[in-house]
Amino acid sequence: MEDTVLVVNCGSSSLKLALFDCQHNKLASALAERLGQNDAFAHVGGLDKAIPLDPGASHDQALNTLVTVFQDEGLMASAPTAVGHRVVHGGETFREAALIDDDVITAIEDCAGLAPLHNPVNLSGIRATLARFPDVPQAAVFDTAFHQTLPKRAYLYAVPEAWYRDWGVRRYGFHGTSHAFMASEAASRLGKTPATISVISAHLGNGCSIAAIRDGISVDTSMGLTPLEGLVMGTRSGDVDPGLFDFLRGKGIAADEVHRVLNQESGLLGLSGQTNDMRSLCELADHGHEPSQTAIDVFCFRLARYIGAMMASLSHLDALVFTGGIGENSARIRAETIHHLKLMGFELSPDLNNHHGEFSDGRIESADSRFPVLVIPTNEELVIAREASRLAGALTPD
Ligand code: ADP
Repeated sequence: MEDTVLVVNCGSSSLKLALFDCQHNKLASALAERLGQNDAFAHVGGLDKAIPLDPGASHDQALNTLVTVFQDEGLMASAPTAVGHRVVHGGETFREAALIDDDVITAIEDCAGLAPLHNPVNLSGIRATLARFPDVPQAAVFDTAFHQTLPKRAYLYAVPEAWYRDWGVRRYGFHGTSHAFMASEAASRLGKTPATISVISAHLGNGCSIAAIRDGISVDTSMGLTPLEGLVMGTRSGDVDPGLFDFLRGKGIAADEVHRVLNQESGLLGLSGQTNDMRSLCELADHGHEPSQTAIDVFCFRLARYIGAMMASLSHLDALVFTGGIGENSARIRAETIHHLKLMGFELSPDLNNHHGEFSDGRIESADSRFPVLVIPTNEELVIAREASRLAGALTPD
Protein backbone atom coordinates (compact mmCIF):
# COMPACT_ATOMS: atom_id res chain seq x y z
CA MET A 1 0.00 0.00 0.00
CA GLU A 2 1.15 3.54 -0.78
CA ASP A 3 2.69 5.97 1.68
CA THR A 4 0.10 8.46 2.88
CA VAL A 5 -0.10 11.77 4.73
CA LEU A 6 -3.04 12.32 7.09
CA VAL A 7 -4.33 15.85 7.66
CA VAL A 8 -6.37 16.50 10.82
CA ASN A 9 -8.52 19.60 11.35
CA CYS A 10 -10.39 19.69 14.66
CA GLY A 11 -13.04 22.44 14.95
CA SER A 12 -15.00 23.18 18.12
CA SER A 13 -17.60 20.46 17.37
CA SER A 14 -16.31 18.98 14.13
CA LEU A 15 -13.43 16.93 12.78
CA LYS A 16 -12.21 16.93 9.20
CA LEU A 17 -9.72 14.38 7.95
CA ALA A 18 -7.99 14.32 4.57
CA LEU A 19 -5.70 11.61 3.26
CA PHE A 20 -3.05 12.34 0.61
CA ASP A 21 -0.60 10.13 -1.27
CA CYS A 22 3.09 11.01 -1.27
CA GLN A 23 2.68 13.18 -4.41
CA HIS A 24 0.03 15.05 -2.42
CA ASN A 25 -2.90 13.85 -4.48
CA LYS A 26 -5.99 13.60 -2.30
CA LEU A 27 -7.11 9.99 -1.74
CA ALA A 28 -9.99 10.43 0.71
CA SER A 29 -11.71 12.79 3.12
CA ALA A 30 -13.97 12.37 6.12
CA LEU A 31 -16.09 14.62 8.27
CA ALA A 32 -17.57 14.19 11.75
CA GLU A 33 -20.02 16.79 13.04
CA ARG A 34 -21.96 17.65 16.18
CA LEU A 35 -19.26 16.03 18.31
CA GLY A 36 -20.07 16.01 22.01
CA GLN A 37 -23.78 16.10 21.19
CA ASN A 38 -26.35 13.31 21.12
CA ASP A 39 -26.71 13.39 17.35
CA ALA A 40 -22.99 13.20 16.45
CA PHE A 41 -22.52 11.74 12.99
CA ALA A 42 -19.80 11.14 10.41
CA HIS A 43 -19.28 10.24 6.80
CA VAL A 44 -16.38 9.42 4.54
CA GLY A 45 -16.23 11.15 1.13
CA GLY A 46 -16.96 8.75 -1.71
CA LEU A 47 -18.40 6.03 0.53
CA ASP A 48 -22.14 5.82 0.24
CA LYS A 49 -22.79 5.08 3.89
CA ALA A 50 -23.08 6.93 7.17
CA ILE A 51 -20.46 6.05 9.77
CA PRO A 52 -22.07 5.36 13.15
CA LEU A 53 -20.74 7.36 16.09
CA ASP A 54 -21.78 6.94 19.71
CA PRO A 55 -24.03 9.71 21.06
CA GLY A 56 -21.79 12.37 22.57
CA ALA A 57 -18.75 11.03 20.65
CA SER A 58 -15.57 13.00 21.33
CA HIS A 59 -12.96 14.19 18.81
CA ASP A 60 -10.76 11.33 19.97
CA GLN A 61 -13.45 8.67 19.36
CA ALA A 62 -14.44 10.14 15.98
CA LEU A 63 -10.82 10.27 14.85
CA ASN A 64 -10.18 6.65 15.78
CA THR A 65 -13.41 5.51 14.10
CA LEU A 66 -12.67 7.35 10.86
CA VAL A 67 -9.03 6.25 10.70
CA THR A 68 -10.19 2.66 11.12
CA VAL A 69 -12.62 3.16 8.20
CA PHE A 70 -9.73 4.48 6.04
CA GLN A 71 -7.72 1.38 6.94
CA ASP A 72 -10.61 -1.08 6.46
CA GLU A 73 -11.40 0.42 3.05
CA GLY A 74 -7.79 -0.16 1.98
CA LEU A 75 -7.11 3.60 1.63
CA MET A 76 -4.37 3.69 4.23
CA ALA A 77 -1.77 1.22 5.54
CA SER A 78 -1.52 0.53 9.26
CA ALA A 79 0.01 3.99 9.75
CA PRO A 80 0.52 7.12 7.62
CA THR A 81 4.05 8.38 6.91
CA ALA A 82 3.27 11.78 8.39
CA VAL A 83 0.39 13.61 10.06
CA GLY A 84 -0.33 17.34 9.74
CA HIS A 85 -2.57 19.17 12.19
CA ARG A 86 -4.25 22.52 11.73
CA VAL A 87 -3.64 24.55 14.90
CA VAL A 88 -5.42 27.88 15.17
CA HIS A 89 -3.18 29.93 17.46
CA GLY A 90 0.59 29.83 17.60
CA GLY A 91 0.94 33.21 19.35
CA GLU A 92 4.36 34.81 18.82
CA THR A 93 6.06 31.46 19.40
CA PHE A 94 5.47 29.94 15.97
CA ARG A 95 6.54 31.76 12.82
CA GLU A 96 6.20 28.57 10.80
CA ALA A 97 4.97 25.00 11.07
CA ALA A 98 6.65 22.82 13.71
CA LEU A 99 7.34 19.14 14.22
CA ILE A 100 5.36 18.13 17.28
CA ASP A 101 7.23 17.18 20.46
CA ASP A 102 6.57 17.79 24.16
CA ASP A 103 7.85 21.39 23.97
CA VAL A 104 5.60 22.19 21.01
CA ILE A 105 2.60 20.72 22.84
CA THR A 106 3.37 22.86 25.90
CA ALA A 107 3.70 25.96 23.71
CA ILE A 108 0.32 25.24 22.04
CA GLU A 109 -1.18 24.86 25.53
CA ASP A 110 0.36 28.20 26.49
CA CYS A 111 -1.38 29.85 23.52
CA ALA A 112 -4.77 28.39 24.50
CA GLY A 113 -5.72 31.54 26.44
CA LEU A 114 -5.67 33.38 23.07
CA ALA A 115 -7.93 30.78 21.38
CA PRO A 116 -9.87 29.01 24.13
CA LEU A 117 -12.40 27.46 21.72
CA HIS A 118 -9.82 26.18 19.28
CA ASN A 119 -6.37 25.27 20.68
CA PRO A 120 -7.72 22.76 23.24
CA VAL A 121 -9.63 20.82 20.55
CA ASN A 122 -6.65 21.04 18.21
CA LEU A 123 -4.61 19.49 21.02
CA SER A 124 -7.14 16.71 21.50
CA GLY A 125 -6.66 15.76 17.83
CA ILE A 126 -2.88 15.83 18.29
CA ARG A 127 -3.07 13.63 21.39
CA ALA A 128 -5.43 11.15 19.71
CA THR A 129 -3.16 10.70 16.68
CA LEU A 130 -0.03 10.52 18.86
CA ALA A 131 -1.69 7.74 20.87
CA ARG A 132 -2.69 5.88 17.72
CA PHE A 133 0.53 6.46 15.75
CA PRO A 134 3.27 7.04 18.36
CA ASP A 135 6.13 6.53 15.87
CA VAL A 136 4.83 8.74 13.06
CA PRO A 137 6.21 12.30 12.69
CA GLN A 138 3.46 14.87 13.22
CA ALA A 139 3.45 18.55 12.32
CA ALA A 140 1.49 21.50 13.67
CA VAL A 141 0.57 24.08 11.02
CA PHE A 142 -0.63 27.36 12.55
CA ASP A 143 -3.29 29.74 11.21
CA THR A 144 -1.37 32.63 12.74
CA ALA A 145 2.19 31.76 11.64
CA PHE A 146 2.09 33.35 8.16
CA HIS A 147 1.15 36.71 9.72
CA GLN A 148 4.08 36.76 12.17
CA THR A 149 5.89 38.94 9.59
CA LEU A 150 3.48 41.85 10.19
CA PRO A 151 5.39 45.02 11.06
CA LYS A 152 4.81 46.59 14.46
CA ARG A 153 2.78 49.44 12.97
CA ALA A 154 0.29 46.85 11.67
CA TYR A 155 0.12 44.50 14.62
CA LEU A 156 0.07 46.92 17.57
CA TYR A 157 -3.19 48.31 18.91
CA ALA A 158 -3.02 51.87 20.21
CA VAL A 159 -3.52 50.74 23.83
CA PRO A 160 -1.13 50.86 26.81
CA GLU A 161 2.07 49.16 25.73
CA ALA A 162 2.07 47.02 28.90
CA TRP A 163 -1.02 45.17 27.63
CA TYR A 164 1.10 43.89 24.76
CA ARG A 165 4.23 43.30 26.86
CA ASP A 166 2.51 41.53 29.75
CA TRP A 167 -0.43 39.80 28.10
CA GLY A 168 0.33 39.59 24.38
CA VAL A 169 -2.51 41.93 23.39
CA ARG A 170 -1.78 42.56 19.68
CA ARG A 171 -3.11 41.65 16.27
CA TYR A 172 -2.17 38.09 15.23
CA GLY A 173 -4.32 37.41 12.14
CA PHE A 174 -5.72 34.05 11.04
CA HIS A 175 -6.41 32.02 7.86
CA GLY A 176 -2.64 32.28 7.26
CA THR A 177 -2.44 28.92 5.51
CA SER A 178 -5.08 30.01 3.02
CA HIS A 179 -3.53 33.45 2.40
CA ALA A 180 -0.11 31.83 1.85
CA PHE A 181 -1.65 29.38 -0.62
CA MET A 182 -3.41 32.17 -2.54
CA ALA A 183 -0.18 34.14 -2.83
CA SER A 184 1.85 31.21 -4.13
CA GLU A 185 -0.89 30.15 -6.57
CA ALA A 186 -1.22 33.73 -7.84
CA ALA A 187 2.56 33.82 -8.34
CA SER A 188 2.54 30.69 -10.46
CA ARG A 189 -0.43 31.89 -12.53
CA LEU A 190 1.10 35.32 -13.12
CA GLY A 191 4.56 33.94 -13.94
CA LYS A 192 6.18 35.35 -10.78
CA THR A 193 8.02 33.69 -7.92
CA PRO A 194 6.41 33.35 -4.46
CA ALA A 195 9.15 35.66 -3.11
CA THR A 196 8.28 38.52 -5.49
CA ILE A 197 4.48 38.38 -5.56
CA SER A 198 2.43 41.19 -3.99
CA VAL A 199 -1.28 40.54 -3.61
CA ILE A 200 -4.34 41.44 -1.60
CA SER A 201 -6.02 38.15 -0.72
CA ALA A 202 -9.63 37.89 0.45
CA HIS A 203 -10.66 34.65 2.15
CA LEU A 204 -14.48 34.76 2.29
CA GLY A 205 -16.09 31.71 3.91
CA ASN A 206 -18.08 31.52 7.13
CA GLY A 207 -15.09 33.31 8.61
CA CYS A 208 -13.71 36.13 6.45
CA SER A 209 -10.35 37.87 6.40
CA ILE A 210 -8.17 39.84 4.05
CA ALA A 211 -4.39 40.16 3.88
CA ALA A 212 -1.81 42.36 2.20
CA ILE A 213 1.13 40.27 1.02
CA ARG A 214 4.22 42.14 -0.07
CA ASP A 215 7.00 40.21 -1.82
CA GLY A 216 5.51 36.97 -0.50
CA ILE A 217 5.31 38.17 3.09
CA SER A 218 2.18 39.05 5.07
CA VAL A 219 2.33 42.75 6.01
CA ASP A 220 -1.25 43.44 7.10
CA THR A 221 -4.44 41.52 7.75
CA SER A 222 -7.96 42.21 8.98
CA MET A 223 -8.31 39.74 11.87
CA GLY A 224 -6.73 40.71 15.16
CA LEU A 225 -6.17 39.35 18.66
CA THR A 226 -9.07 37.00 17.89
CA PRO A 227 -10.85 36.04 14.66
CA LEU A 228 -13.64 38.52 15.51
CA GLU A 229 -12.01 41.66 14.09
CA GLY A 230 -12.30 42.96 10.57
CA LEU A 231 -14.73 41.96 7.84
CA VAL A 232 -18.41 41.10 8.22
CA MET A 233 -18.68 37.29 8.54
CA GLY A 234 -21.43 34.64 8.71
CA THR A 235 -22.25 35.14 12.38
CA ARG A 236 -19.37 37.43 13.48
CA SER A 237 -19.69 41.21 13.46
CA GLY A 238 -16.15 42.08 12.45
CA ASP A 239 -15.20 45.64 13.50
CA VAL A 240 -17.44 47.41 16.01
CA ASP A 241 -16.78 50.39 18.25
CA PRO A 242 -15.33 48.97 21.50
CA GLY A 243 -17.47 51.60 23.26
CA LEU A 244 -20.35 49.25 22.47
CA PHE A 245 -19.49 47.13 25.52
CA ASP A 246 -19.99 49.99 27.98
CA PHE A 247 -23.05 51.27 26.13
CA LEU A 248 -24.74 47.86 26.28
CA ARG A 249 -23.71 47.39 29.92
CA GLY A 250 -25.90 50.45 30.54
CA LYS A 251 -28.75 48.48 28.93
CA GLY A 252 -28.17 45.56 31.33
CA ILE A 253 -26.25 43.32 28.93
CA ALA A 254 -23.09 41.85 30.46
CA ALA A 255 -19.77 41.81 28.56
CA ASP A 256 -19.77 38.03 28.09
CA GLU A 257 -23.23 38.17 26.53
CA VAL A 258 -22.16 40.96 24.16
CA HIS A 259 -19.13 38.86 23.24
CA ARG A 260 -21.34 35.83 22.54
CA VAL A 261 -23.73 37.83 20.37
CA LEU A 262 -20.89 39.46 18.42
CA ASN A 263 -19.48 35.99 17.67
CA GLN A 264 -22.61 33.92 17.17
CA GLU A 265 -25.57 36.14 16.32
CA SER A 266 -24.11 39.02 14.36
CA GLY A 267 -22.62 39.40 10.87
CA LEU A 268 -24.84 38.29 7.99
CA LEU A 269 -27.14 36.44 10.40
CA GLY A 270 -27.60 39.45 12.68
CA LEU A 271 -28.20 41.93 9.86
CA SER A 272 -30.59 39.75 7.87
CA GLY A 273 -32.36 38.19 10.85
CA GLN A 274 -32.58 35.06 8.67
CA THR A 275 -29.38 33.19 7.89
CA ASN A 276 -25.58 33.27 7.92
CA ASP A 277 -25.47 31.50 4.55
CA MET A 278 -24.57 33.86 1.69
CA ARG A 279 -26.20 31.72 -0.99
CA SER A 280 -29.52 31.76 0.88
CA LEU A 281 -29.17 35.50 1.50
CA CYS A 282 -28.74 36.15 -2.22
CA GLU A 283 -31.91 34.15 -2.91
CA LEU A 284 -33.82 36.01 -0.20
CA ALA A 285 -32.62 39.36 -1.56
CA ASP A 286 -33.75 38.32 -5.07
CA HIS A 287 -37.20 37.71 -3.62
CA GLY A 288 -37.31 41.24 -2.24
CA HIS A 289 -36.23 40.58 1.37
CA GLU A 290 -34.73 43.97 2.19
CA PRO A 291 -32.73 43.04 5.32
CA SER A 292 -30.94 40.37 3.29
CA GLN A 293 -29.95 42.91 0.63
CA THR A 294 -28.79 45.23 3.43
CA ALA A 295 -26.63 42.43 4.88
CA ILE A 296 -25.07 41.90 1.44
CA ASP A 297 -24.49 45.65 1.03
CA VAL A 298 -22.76 45.98 4.41
CA PHE A 299 -20.66 42.86 3.69
CA CYS A 300 -19.46 44.16 0.29
CA PHE A 301 -18.87 47.73 1.42
CA ARG A 302 -16.81 46.64 4.45
CA LEU A 303 -14.79 44.36 2.19
CA ALA A 304 -14.18 47.13 -0.34
CA ARG A 305 -13.04 49.49 2.45
CA TYR A 306 -10.56 46.87 3.64
CA ILE A 307 -9.23 46.31 0.13
CA GLY A 308 -8.55 50.04 0.00
CA ALA A 309 -6.94 49.93 3.45
CA MET A 310 -4.61 47.09 2.45
CA MET A 311 -3.19 49.30 -0.32
CA ALA A 312 -1.41 51.34 2.37
CA SER A 313 0.91 48.37 3.00
CA LEU A 314 1.95 47.75 -0.60
CA SER A 315 4.30 49.47 -3.03
CA HIS A 316 2.75 47.72 -6.01
CA LEU A 317 -0.05 45.22 -6.55
CA ASP A 318 0.17 42.14 -8.78
CA ALA A 319 -3.40 40.95 -8.12
CA LEU A 320 -6.46 40.98 -5.94
CA VAL A 321 -7.41 37.37 -5.16
CA PHE A 322 -10.75 35.95 -3.98
CA THR A 323 -11.20 32.57 -2.29
CA GLY A 324 -13.43 30.70 0.22
CA GLY A 325 -17.01 29.51 -0.39
CA ILE A 326 -18.23 33.08 -1.07
CA GLY A 327 -15.09 34.36 -2.78
CA GLU A 328 -14.92 31.40 -5.16
CA ASN A 329 -18.62 31.01 -5.97
CA SER A 330 -20.38 34.34 -5.76
CA ALA A 331 -19.99 36.50 -8.86
CA ARG A 332 -22.51 38.88 -7.30
CA ILE A 333 -20.47 39.55 -4.16
CA ARG A 334 -17.29 40.07 -6.17
CA ALA A 335 -19.10 42.45 -8.54
CA GLU A 336 -20.78 44.46 -5.74
CA THR A 337 -17.45 44.77 -3.94
CA ILE A 338 -15.41 45.83 -6.97
CA HIS A 339 -18.14 48.32 -7.88
CA HIS A 340 -16.99 50.40 -4.86
CA LEU A 341 -13.38 50.39 -6.07
CA LYS A 342 -13.69 52.13 -9.43
CA LEU A 343 -11.59 55.04 -8.26
CA MET A 344 -8.70 52.67 -7.61
CA GLY A 345 -8.97 51.30 -11.13
CA PHE A 346 -10.38 47.83 -10.38
CA GLU A 347 -12.86 46.63 -13.01
CA LEU A 348 -14.33 43.19 -13.66
CA SER A 349 -15.30 41.51 -16.90
CA PRO A 350 -18.93 40.49 -16.24
CA ASP A 351 -18.52 37.43 -18.45
CA LEU A 352 -15.29 36.17 -16.87
CA ASN A 353 -16.66 36.97 -13.40
CA ASN A 354 -19.88 35.04 -14.04
CA HIS A 355 -17.79 32.00 -14.94
CA HIS A 356 -15.65 32.45 -11.78
CA GLY A 357 -12.57 32.67 -14.02
CA GLU A 358 -13.08 29.01 -14.92
CA PHE A 359 -11.91 29.39 -18.53
CA SER A 360 -9.36 32.17 -17.98
CA ASP A 361 -6.94 30.67 -15.45
CA GLY A 362 -8.86 32.38 -12.65
CA ARG A 363 -8.66 35.89 -14.21
CA ILE A 364 -11.90 37.90 -13.99
CA GLU A 365 -10.79 41.52 -14.57
CA SER A 366 -11.73 43.55 -17.64
CA ALA A 367 -9.17 44.59 -20.23
CA ASP A 368 -9.28 48.13 -18.75
CA SER A 369 -8.70 47.12 -15.14
CA ARG A 370 -5.62 48.63 -13.55
CA PHE A 371 -4.97 45.38 -11.65
CA PRO A 372 -5.54 41.67 -12.29
CA VAL A 373 -8.34 40.10 -10.21
CA LEU A 374 -8.25 36.33 -9.67
CA VAL A 375 -10.48 33.61 -8.27
CA ILE A 376 -8.34 30.87 -6.74
CA PRO A 377 -9.92 27.94 -4.87
CA THR A 378 -8.07 27.66 -1.59
CA ASN A 379 -6.60 24.37 -0.42
CA GLU A 380 -5.50 24.56 3.20
CA GLU A 381 -5.39 20.76 3.53
CA LEU A 382 -2.87 20.53 0.72
CA VAL A 383 -0.61 23.12 2.38
CA ILE A 384 -0.81 21.20 5.67
CA ALA A 385 0.01 17.92 3.89
CA ARG A 386 3.01 19.52 2.17
CA GLU A 387 4.27 21.02 5.42
CA ALA A 388 3.88 17.69 7.24
CA SER A 389 5.81 15.91 4.47
CA ARG A 390 8.51 18.57 4.44
CA LEU A 391 8.99 18.40 8.20
CA ALA A 392 8.84 14.64 8.29
CA GLY A 393 11.47 14.73 5.57
CA ALA A 394 10.40 11.30 4.44
CA LEU A 395 8.28 11.93 1.39
CA THR A 396 8.95 12.96 -2.15
CA PRO A 397 8.46 16.72 -2.35
CA ASP A 398 6.13 17.82 -5.16
P1 ADP B 1 -16.07 27.60 5.93
O1 ADP B 1 -15.48 28.88 6.41
O2 ADP B 1 -17.02 26.99 6.92
O3 ADP B 1 -15.08 26.64 5.32
P2 ADP B 1 -16.92 27.97 3.19
O4 ADP B 1 -15.59 28.44 2.70
O5 ADP B 1 -17.40 26.64 2.73
O6 ADP B 1 -17.05 28.05 4.76
O7 ADP B 1 -17.99 29.09 2.75
C1 ADP B 1 -19.31 28.99 3.13
C2 ADP B 1 -20.05 30.19 2.56
O8 ADP B 1 -19.95 30.17 1.12
C3 ADP B 1 -21.55 30.15 2.87
O9 ADP B 1 -21.99 31.44 3.25
C4 ADP B 1 -22.16 29.76 1.55
O10 ADP B 1 -23.48 30.21 1.38
C5 ADP B 1 -21.22 30.49 0.60
N1 ADP B 1 -21.40 30.03 -0.78
C6 ADP B 1 -21.12 28.83 -1.31
N2 ADP B 1 -21.52 28.81 -2.61
C7 ADP B 1 -22.07 30.02 -2.88
C8 ADP B 1 -22.68 30.63 -4.03
N3 ADP B 1 -22.79 29.99 -5.17
N4 ADP B 1 -23.12 31.91 -3.92
C9 ADP B 1 -23.01 32.58 -2.76
N5 ADP B 1 -22.45 32.07 -1.65
C10 ADP B 1 -21.99 30.80 -1.71
